[in-house]
Order: sequence, then C-alpha cells, then structure tokens
Amino acid sequence: KLILAIESSCDETSVAVIENGDTILSNVVASQVKSHQRFGGVVPEVASRHHVEEITLCIEEALAEADVKPDDLGAVGVTYGPGLVGALLIGISAAKAFAWAHDLPLIPVNHMAGHIYAAHFVEPLQFPLMALLVSGGHTELVYMRETGSFEIIGETRDDAAGEAYDKVGRVLGLTYPSGKEIDELAHLGEDTYHFPRAMMKEDNYDFSFSGLKSSFINTVHNAEQRNEELIVKDLAASFQASVIDVLADKTIRACKEYPVKQLVMAGGVAANIGLRDRLSKEVTEELQGVTFIVPPLRLCGDNAAMIGAAAFVEAEKAHFADYHLNADPSLSFTTI
Ligand code: ATP
Ligand code: MG
Ligand code: FE
Repeated sequence: KLILAIESSCDETSVAVIENGDTILSNVVASQVKSHQRFGGVVPEVASRHHVEEITLCIEEALAEADVKPDDLGAVGVTYGPGLVGALLIGISAAKAFAWAHDLPLIPVNHMAGHIYAAHFVEPLQFPLMALLVSGGHTELVYMRETGSFEIIGETRDDAAGEAYDKVGRVLGLTYPSGKEIDELAHLGEDTYHFPRAMMKEDNYDFSFSGLKSSFINTVHNAEQRNEELIVKDLAASFQASVIDVLADKTIRACKEYPVKQLVMAGGVAANIGLRDRLSKEVTEELQGVTFIVPPLRLCGDNAAMIGAAAFVEAEKAHFADYHLNADPSLSFTTI
C-alpha cells in the first residue's frame, strides 16, 4: 500500500511516499535549476552529479516527512525513461539498492505516464480519457481506452511546447526556464504581433512550434535592426496566444472525435494559467459530460509523487522489474 517513488529523469531529484496510489505522504523535490541557468538549459553531466549528491538525502527526507520506516513500504517505483540517461541511472541505481536492501519489489515507471497520473491526485482517472501532455520534451495527445493503454494520436513534429517557451525566453533575455515568466508577461500584454498558428487547420492531431519560434526570432531581429521599439509583454502575449490556440483547438477537436469521459492536461506546461483557463472554459462550453482535470501547479513539473501514482497502477498489474532494469532514454508508450 505504501510506495517509495523515485524520479531523476532531468533536473529534479525527487522522492515521494505514496499511500494507495492516491495519497501523498511526502513529496521531496530538489531542483537543480539554478545550476543550469547560466548555461540556458540542462547540462546532462551537471544534472547527473547533482542527482548523486541529492538522492540519498531526498530518500531520507521523504521517509522522515512521511513518518514511514523502510519496513512499512510495499514497493519501490522508479522512472526508467524517457529522460537523460546519466540522470535516470542515478535514480534507478538508488531504487535497486533500496529495494535489494529492504527486500522490496521494484516497479519500473514511464515518466510520461507519471505526468498523466499526477491528475489522479485530483480525481480518480476514468476511461476512456484524452490526455494533452505538454512538457519540456514532449507535446502529444494521448488516448487512453483503459488504464495502462496509451495511444498517441498526435504529437509535435519538431519542438515541444515547453522547449518553444524556453527558446523564445532566451531571445528575450529571460532566465531559464522561462515558461512561467512568459505566461505572466502574456497576461499583461495583447496579441498584436499575430504569429502563425501552425497546422491548426490541418486534419490531424499533430503540432509544430519551430515555425512560430523562427517567426518570433525574425520579428525581434528585424525590429532591432530597424531600431524599432519592441513591446515585450505584447510579444509574450502574441506568442502565448499562438501556442494556446493550436493546443486548445486540436485538443477539443480530438475530444469530439474520440469518446472520452475526461480530458487530462499534464506536464510542466500544464502549469500555464492561460492554457488552463482556456481549456477549462472550452470544455465547459463545448464538451458536455467531459470532466477537465489538471494537476495542481506543484504536480505539473517533475516530481516523484506522480511516479508513485503510476507505480501503484503498475503494481496492481504485477508489472515488476528485476535488477537488470536499465535506463531507456527514449522510452515511448508503446514499449510498456
Ligand atoms: P519531459 O517531461 O518531456 O521529459 P521535462 O521533464 O524537462 O520534459 P517538465 O519538467 O515536465 O519537462 O516541464 C518543464 C517545462 O515546463 C519547461 O519548458 C518550462 O518552461 C515549462 N513551464 C513551466 N511553467 C510554465 C508555464 N506557466 N507556462 C508555460 N510553460 C511552463
Ligand atoms: Mg525540470
Ligand atoms: Fe517531465
């Protein structure tokens, strides 16, 4: 019933203790974001070193905060992909060592499934459901007919939404990661630059954000060359309007075509206030009988609580791993 969950796929070392798959007893998140900021992105080697330093402390802290002893636990869940190979290996090694030392079963968890299962802390997932996964490395629409079944019906052909936010932020001289700051600026400005809405009218569920990024960069460069004034809050608002338009349009369309009980939005970009408001409004207006679920802000970004929720589901299906479990940096949904 009690699962120790470990997440180390990118730049957050996180350990959680989860009860019955839906109650968070502790969720310790050690973010390394400050160490990566001066490089403008996550440096894999730096990330691995931080995970090594933090992982044992996080495990101790998570157990202490939950007031749980290793003997009380029923299993250890760990992210084994997708993510940075060196970073994943630290979490996997720690999970194996802990599982071996305390004679606990080991549960392998897909990080992206974890993002979706973060919604389970808000409301039990009901199938069939549609999930809009928007994060730093992924942008996809995932249809789940039942628990454990993931069908990607559309995805980005180039940049992920979060990646686009971070790249655009860099052009504006904002600190990495810049999604939250652009979201805040966007609320102060207006869509005056009218950037393109890539693939919005196309009859598929795919996305593309690299054209938007180029168009944004060109606008900024051209204005600089001509010594024209740039209105940063309007640039942010225009960029965000384009991202939200395509994400919302295709997501709502997908929910009309596929039978769904719930629409789940998850991943780091699901913290975007503009996107949360827009989808919540459109679901109410256009999708009768569909419930919109989005995790609270602290469970949108990477954390181990969501890994624990997904691990609980895997454990019920007796999906365990042995000590040969390896990291799979490009793990996709089809391989589980
Ligand atoms: P993945 O989950 O695909 O492996 P990741 O784990 O690196 O990638 P997350 O931690 O889930 O990604 O999300 C981080 C991303 O979320 C960053 O790109 C960040 O800019 C973005 N982000 C965070 N808050 C917001 C926001 N309010 N608006 C837009 N983007 C945001
Ligand atoms: Mg991160
Ligand atoms: Fe993530």
